[in-house]
Amino acid sequence: MALTGIQIMKLLPKKNCKECGFPTCLAFAMKVAAGQVEIDKCPYVDPKVKEEISEATAPPIRTVVIGTPEASYKLGGETVLFRHEKKFENPPLIGTYLKTSMEDEEVLRRIKAYQTLKWERVGNVLKPEIVCIKDEGDKERFISLVKKVREVLPEVAIVLASSDLSLIKNAIEVCTPSVPLVYPGQAEDLSSFVSLATEKKVPLVVSAVTLGELARLVEGLITQGLKDLVLDSGALHPKELFEDLVIIRRAAVKKRFKPFGFPVITFMDRYTEDLVEEYLLASIYVAKYASIILLSDLKPELLFPLLLERFNLYSDPQKPLVVDEGIYPINGPDEYSPVVVTCNFALTYFIVSGEIEGSRVPCWLLIKDTDGLSVLTAWAAGKFNADNIAEFVKKTGIAEKIKHRTLMIPGYVAIIKGELEEELGGWEVVIGPREANGLPVALRELAKR
Ligand code: SF4
Repeated sequence: MALTGIQIMKLLPKKNCKECGFPTCLAFAMKVAAGQVEIDKCPYVDPKVKEEISEATAPPIRTVVIGTPEASYKLGGETVLFRHEKKFENPPLIGTYLKTSMEDEEVLRRIKAYQTLKWERVGNVLKPEIVCIKDEGDKERFISLVKKVREVLPEVAIVLASSDLSLIKNAIEVCTPSVPLVYPGQAEDLSSFVSLATEKKVPLVVSAVTLGELARLVEGLITQGLKDLVLDSGALHPKELFEDLVIIRRAAVKKRFKPFGFPVITFMDRYTEDLVEEYLLASIYVAKYASIILLSDLKPELLFPLLLERFNLYSDPQKPLVVDEGIYPINGPDEYSPVVVTCNFALTYFIVSGEIEGSRVPCWLLIKDTDGLSVLTAWAAGKFNADNIAEFVKKTGIAEKIKHRTLMIPGYVAIIKGELEEELGGWEVVIGPREANGLPVALRELAKR
């Protein structure tokens, strides 16, 4: 049962010492209850109470961490069924396979795909993050693939897929200090894998043919003390997988059904031999509710839309994407280059900076903090008006970097030109285009002056 802020407050030492970073124990308790702060931040809580609170405030789906020292990834940790209720926490990891039966050439092609398939979108890098190394009977090859991935793909998390216990044991050692996910498949001796996962502190995939069987299996493993599990529902049809994923999420979030409170791994090549269909199916499970999606290959034209969908679904709907306030030099500006000001809504920044870059006109772009509001909204909210733009321009120190005193403002706020010139004193304010695609022409004109 989840604890309320008041219930947590009663369990705290009530010193109001602020060491947790909050002004009072009550303020801290409210944040812990909301799942925004870990109880560990208070150094005075009794360890037993700490465990009790951690358990009660933990998300209904356990957060399982895998990855490398260079990049760790959280799976699960979800608290809601629908994105508009709060937000989805940890995007599903997307990747493909390296199999022991693959020729060197094919392995290298796939490794190259991981190294090159990256796209930047509003300051975030979209890329595949996980690889499943699959044993098909060649032990030496399996270990050499694990070594290769560790060496050349330091930011890629690994799934070790083999039902050979000693091989998995060796591979875990090769992975160290990375934490791989172990997938024993239909291994007969699951209990030995359970002991190995416990000893090596690595998460284990548990699979079964039906959800009932899966629940019974996981229940038993929880009783044995195994905490980091990933579920494979074993569905053999995409519709069945969709239903399983929804049932698992609903049972965990709505009923707090512990055996289903874990991330879920999915394999698109289980359902079709057509790569396009695999990606179409993956787009369903990105939304509902996979934690890992493995595809039979990575193709840029199919991968990019999938990553973009994931990025959109896992952004916080209540928080606008922002960039930092400051001066952004673009195309190597000097003291005679134009100065343009706009707001810090990430989409505005990336569109404006993209147009400036494309124009090849060296330019100083001033980004003012408007709490992520776009130009017109920020102006209407009083966050992008003559007063505060003038104050911001002075604060940036841009005047010391340039020899002219001309500032371009977005066309949508042309109305503030006179007042802004007054506030800035000695500056000429030029009205820019309403839409960013008019910037190249406007900047070239301005640069000629
Ligand atoms: Fe209260 Fe602990 Fe925070 Fe001190 S550190 S204010 S005792 S919650």
